[in-house]
Amino acid sequence: MRDRRYDILFERVALGPVSARNRFYQVPHCNGLGYRDPSALAAMRGVKAEGGWAVVCTEQAEIHYSSDITPFIELRLWDDRDIPALARMADAVHEHGALAGIELAYNGMNGPNHYGREVPMGPAALPVATFSHEPLQARRMDKADIANLRRWHLAAVRRARTAGFDVIYVYAAHSLSFLSHFLSRRFNDRTDEYGGSIENRVRLLREVTEDARNAVGASCAVPIRISIDDLTNEGGLNRAEVEDMIGSMADLPDLWDVTLAGWENDSRTSRFAEEGHEEEFVRGIKRLTRKPVVGVGRYTSVDRMVSLVRGGVLDLIGAARPSIADPFLPRKIEEGRIEDIRECIGCNICVAGDFTQSPLRCTQNPTMAEEWRRGWHPERVKPKGSDGAVLVVGGGPAGLEAAQVLGKRGYPVTLAEARRELGGRVLDESRLPGLAAWIRVRDYRRGQLERLPNVQVFLDNRLNAEDVLGLGMPKIVIATGSRWRRDGVGRYHTRPIAIDREACVLTPDDLMAGLLPDGGRVVVWDDDHYYMGGVLAELCAARGYDTRYITPASEASTWTRATLEQHFIQARLLRKGVQIHAFRAVTEVQRGAVVTACVFTGASETLAADAVVLVTARLPEDRLAHELERQRSAWAGAGIESLAVIGDALAPATIAHATYAGRRYAEECDAAGAAAGADAVPFRREITELSDLPKPPLSEHSGGLSSG
Ligand code: ADP
Ligand code: SF4
Repeated sequence: MRDRRYDILFERVALGPVSARNRFYQVPHCNGLGYRDPSALAAMRGVKAEGGWAVVCTEQAEIHYSSDITPFIELRLWDDRDIPALARMADAVHEHGALAGIELAYNGMNGPNHYGREVPMGPAALPVATFSHEPLQARRMDKADIANLRRWHLAAVRRARTAGFDVIYVYAAHSLSFLSHFLSRRFNDRTDEYGGSIENRVRLLREVTEDARNAVGASCAVPIRISIDDLTNEGGLNRAEVEDMIGSMADLPDLWDVTLAGWENDSRTSRFAEEGHEEEFVRGIKRLTRKPVVGVGRYTSVDRMVSLVRGGVLDLIGAARPSIADPFLPRKIEEGRIEDIRECIGCNICVAGDFTQSPLRCTQNPTMAEEWRRGWHPERVKPKGSDGAVLVVGGGPAGLEAAQVLGKRGYPVTLAEARRELGGRVLDESRLPGLAAWIRVRDYRRGQLERLPNVQVFLDNRLNAEDVLGLGMPKIVIATGSRWRRDGVGRYHTRPIAIDREACVLTPDDLMAGLLPDGGRVVVWDDDHYYMGGVLAELCAARGYDTRYITPASEASTWTRATLEQHFIQARLLRKGVQIHAFRAVTEVQRGAVVTACVFTGASETLAADAVVLVTARLPEDRLAHELERQRSAWAGAGIESLAVIGDALAPATIAHATYAGRRYAEECDAAGAAAGADAVPFRREITELSDLPKPPLSEHSGGLSSG
């Protein structure tokens, strides 16, 4: 039973002509499935509806062929042939009683049109603002273009309604839509009635919204999604201006969906923003309109959600990431199962799916995007498919996930962990600056294990091969993790570098164990390129070391572009006084110095350094697995039927890879044909249907070349 204090979250909210069954609203979010994987997308959204969200929206749906943001994989609504794929998603959402929303987008000067090869257009003739610095400009739209765009948008609204959507967005946010470009002085330098004053810059948004409203009548809600602030000093939108804009259209849409721009500000990681970081921006918007307001802030605290509604800040609790980490968040609140909520850790690995054009993965929810592909469900597991107990060695993310899912499947499970606490790498990493929320990976799983009587956890138990053989369990899972290398091998150097025996050389494991570098000058050599090098440079600087950060890349923590963090990381390092040396490699570590080389010319330079932190690559902690392999002849006598190595112990990667590996083992350990190396593709995929349109006859095709 749910806590009465949370009743307010389960009130219905009218969105114009339609009604949301509660206040939980999955705002549009990208996912790397899009038009390429429509069935997987439909299943993913359907699970959210099943989990209790009142409104489940698409990601952006391109409304016209002249607005594609290839290589990003979003949705397309270019013509009627795109309707069935979208209808599949709307149907999946309706099946579970939720409203289906669609975010119609015309990217304009944000869309390079690599696929359609049309010339991009926007309010002004400016370079196309993609995520690269491609030499490509948009042309300035004239009145005929504006009329065309209104017609295209209207056609997309009608198609969206045909596909079955109940909530049809007018998208003017994140600097990703032509409407946001028209709103902003930064992009709009027009002197006609669509530029200049606020009234003029808002004109097109008003016209497009009125077109949509008139077209859908009483069948659908039409929200406007707008950014309240783009946090730039470059003459962009600011709160005061946006208040005037919202005020001038106060009751025109059925809902105001308010965000920050750009995406990196809207979806800040937990390293750079607390839960609710957007509240200060959203506060006061409701005073401008009688229509409901939805906003986001990585909300997972139920009390905080209640206070947002009671305090008149929001009417609907918007969520993208919390709904990815736990598609069943509303249901769990409703059923009084708060302790079962799998809280988002704010790592943005999900965002990386969009940036890598691949199905999104989630650190906390390894079933994400696998609902249709592999038949996984975030809350339901199939009963165990064989008898016999399972021994899981290692209580990091991989071992914990394997143990809790195996336990839920009904297997008797023994989990042995060498340390006195569960968590593995997240135990250590969550103590680093900005990463505290990552401990939720451990906390959720530990909480689940505590409620499973068939799972036994043994802490302070470092097992060796004899121990494992002595336990006599049929299934053995080795999830013993990895350790950072101290020989300089990584991406740049694939062979050990010269390191003086007298030099102070530390690895991330050393720093996480509390060791401090010698002296006052530290060099951090980052050949890993994710968060660890930047975090440790930050740590050293905070402890007063004169810190130099060396990378062969052009910038600090370069892979974090995919998690929307790179800009924030570099700014933080610079503000903390860390000296960043880009395009350089550490080639030798001497006592009191490091030798570096330019990655282009090889020109070397020696830097004084009392200590060096090597953040390069990791070695699998697979000694136990190898020892057991060597004793394979003893398995039968010990009752061992199978041995699997998973997570970092197999191949070090992200925490998301580890939870995925744990899940996969637990789902598939008793499935036929699921072993690595199987010949058949182990997941479902959508194959492009070959076009079977008849070719036109030669005479027509060749324009009058027939003899006649
Ligand atoms: P992963 O990310 O793959 O889960 P981690 O490094 O986070 O890997 O976790 C591995 C865990 O395994 C650590 O908590 C470590 O203490 C534990 N471990 C390593 N070797 C053994 C062993 N022989 N017996 C029990 N636990 C072990
Ligand atoms: Fe949250 Fe990370 Fe999962 Fe994204 S990947 S939903 S940020 S836990």
